[in-house]
Amino acid sequence: MKAQGLLLVLSGPSGAGKGTICQMLREKLPDLAYSVSVTTRQARNGEVDGVNYFFKSVEEVKQMIAEGELLEYAEVYGNYYGTPRSYVMELLNQGKDVILEIDIQGAMQIKKRFPDGVFVFIVPPSLDELCSRIYKRGTDSEDVIKRRLASATGELAYANEYDYIVVNDVAQKATSKVLTIMEAERYRAARTYFIINEICHAAHKEREI
Ligand code: 5GP
Repeated sequence: MKAQGLLLVLSGPSGAGKGTICQMLREKLPDLAYSVSVTTRQARNGEVDGVNYFFKSVEEVKQMIAEGELLEYAEVYGNYYGTPRSYVMELLNQGKDVILEIDIQGAMQIKKRFPDGVFVFIVPPSLDELCSRIYKRGTDSEDVIKRRLASATGELAYANEYDYIVVNDVAQKATSKVLTIMEAERYRAARTYFIINEICHAAHKEREI
């Protein structure tokens, strides 16, 4: 028997650096499956449909919700975002590790359905740093930036709902911390108990011979 894949959920306020960490994890772990979300927000410069997101209309996303095609969904900063169900379920059933980079509302929905998922909350070293990262990114309008900053402090209060909190001061270090978490999670007794059954089963067979 093989251990089930890990369902890794990364959340944190806008500007915490989840995207960078996610990218670095994917480079380090080429087998890690990244779930591409659907969204109704406009594509930013350089974003590619099917790679960064599946860009959809509100009607299309509502239809997906009605047909149960999303594992979770939420309205974030005035747009819908959601995780396509079939891709994630297929990979988890194959024993692959899957990463979701989603907001807190979505993460809480996933936690109810997958209590043995690994929930990691990424935080910036300070609110000043968060603010300067969002401005430096330069991908959003002033209005959207203000909304994202206003949500940040409220979002930090949810950190307690997660299994781990990782401060992202230097992205590479934060990524190593997430890798360590994943490594430790693989050895959780609840995930590896099947090994005990296999050992006992083998011993039983030996005695029979
Ligand atoms: P952005 O517009 O900056 O790409 O993402 C805005 C927020 O939406 C981020 O917090 C991001 O993690 C979250 N998000 C991205 N995809 C999903 C998703 O599939 N579901 C949920 N609930 N949130 C998502």
